[in-house]
Amino acid sequence: MMDSSTPTGLSVFQFAGLRQGPKVIILGAVHGNETCGTEALKRLRQEIESGELCINRGTLTMVPVTNPLAYQLQRRHGDRNLNRNMSRTDAPQDFEDLVCNVLCPLLEQHDVLLDLHSFQAPGIPFALIGAPNNVGDIEPTSKAKQEEAMAMSLGVNRFVEGWLDTYAQGVRDRKARGVDARVDYGVGTTETMRRGGGIAVTLECGQHDDATAPETAYKAIRNTLAHLEMTSDAKPELVRNPEVIRLYRVIDRLHSDDVFSKKWLSFEKITQGTVIAYRHDGVELVADRDGWIVFPNNTAQVNQEWFYLAAQSDRLG
Ligand SMILES: [Zn+2]
Repeated sequence: MMDSSTPTGLSVFQFAGLRQGPKVIILGAVHGNETCGTEALKRLRQEIESGELCINRGTLTMVPVTNPLAYQLQRRHGDRNLNRNMSRTDAPQDFEDLVCNVLCPLLEQHDVLLDLHSFQAPGIPFALIGAPNNVGDIEPTSKAKQEEAMAMSLGVNRFVEGWLDTYAQGVRDRKARGVDARVDYGVGTTETMRRGGGIAVTLECGQHDDATAPETAYKAIRNTLAHLEMTSDAKPELVRNPEVIRLYRVIDRLHSDDVFSKKWLSFEKITQGTVIAYRHDGVELVADRDGWIVFPNNTAQVNQEWFYLAAQSDRLG
């Protein structure tokens, strides 16, 4: 797993205002080939260091390259996906375990996380938010309103919710089939942050190579800092007509010959009764309601997430 070229450290930059305020952490390149956040943070750091922008209150921490091995390799993972199964361990097995041992305590020292990503397929930017206020076991929170207000300040119009809940249902399905699976595997940066009592938003800024993605990331950072009154920028207006999409079901691939009925785009609209895919034995997988197909994965492995179903949500209304 380690050779002499494997990175041995993380670069963490911090700026403190002289007045009390929120402790904000911003991550780039949690996935190594998603560099829009890295570029945006580099630009922001230069602006702060040159005096062009001031942090007046609170603390801003930036980690431009959160997975330096994956970044060095210019791919999503180093040894594994850093944004899954995020926890501390006394016996690190891979590079990402080492990063988690630094990142988890760092996240816990903060109140607010903005995690900057990009995606593979064409599409518009969107923000992933956590569960509404609830006292359940999977993702309890009492700070959903703060998280929603932050998300609606970022400058994007599309919002996705229901990730961990839906993931937990997928794990139950897998267990029912006798496959070993853990809900904790669905825990990444934002879930870790919320479990520590903070608020967190993942912003998917556009396609990996989209030239506008770094600008989307940069604006979202400036808007977040302004929303939290940490800079002298005017507070951004909340988005007026948000499109809110709730993931409600994840379907695993069960056989290598399971196939999609067509080449789906992520967030492609589907109507009730649409045939989405065929199992290897010909059984049709049909949309049970109007909504969207999300994150279809042509290269999904057996017993891994193949696609998600989503429906309109009344959140943020
Ligand atoms: Zn990502």
